[in-house]
Amino acid sequence: MTPTGTPPARRARDIGLDVRAPKTRCDDRHCPFHGRLPVRGQVLEGTVVSTAMQRTAVVERTLLHYVAKFERYEKRRRRYLAHAPPCLNVPVGHRVRIAETRPLSKLVSFCIVEDLGEAAHRVRGEEAVPAPGAPAPAEESP
Ligand SMILES: [Zn+2]
Repeated sequence: MTPTGTPPARRARDIGLDVRAPKTRCDDRHCPFHGRLPVRGQVLEGTVVSTAMQRTAVVERTLLHYVAKFERYEKRRRRYLAHAPPCLNVPVGHRVRIAETRPLSKLVSFCIVEDLGEAAHRVRGEEAVPAPGAPAPAEESP
């Protein structure tokens, strides 16, 4: 649904996700808000670790994986290359939300859709992924 009362200067395309639209505009055609790039699929959260590339950022995500044999968690991490639209202008060290897109290049198939602010102490190991045999926190009825 299109919001009717939005001032024209702040209007960005509704990308279908519950995210804050960027305050500034851009003319990037791969921007989900001001271009024509559809986002669909996974939505992940991570920390920007590098912005050395042009309009592409390295987003690292850490998660805890349960090892049943040792009854402990191990840290795992994965790095995603994500398109960084110029209107968001995310610096290194910020938490971001990335959404899956069609492949934009050989290694880029995610796009940053929201800046969640500076990552304080939650850079590593905040998401637990239940593995088979792991003590599940709360089982839903089957
Ligand atoms: Zn934009």
